[in-house]
Amino acid sequence: MNRYRSMVKMMIDDALKSIVGFEGPHRERLKIVAGQKLERIVSEAIDRVAHIVVSRKRNGLIYCRLCSKGPFTKRGLYLHLRRIHRSEIEEKLLDEIARIIETR
Ligand SMILES: [Zn+2]
Repeated sequence: MNRYRSMVKMMIDDALKSIVGFEGPHRERLKIVAGQKLERIVSEAIDRVAHIVVSRKRNGLIYCRLCSKGPFTKRGLYLHLRRIHRSEIEEKLLDEIARIIETR
């Protein structure tokens, strides 16, 4: 588990960018940090955490599900998650990675 913890800490900024829905070079960096074996597991864990953390309304506005604040722009939500919920999201990613590996 420790090895996943250091991996998640290393990728948290790029994971947060994916969680809020940004496209960009962070997606490739995530694959590199995860490595071939974990690439798909990490990507699935990020998708699951995104559902837990981000609320998208039909009108396109986005809110934080962890504290109900918003609406945010993508950039605003990214900064909010990084500042307020970073370690909480690291834990959620670790939980999801463990769950995916256990149930495979
Ligand atoms: Zn929040």
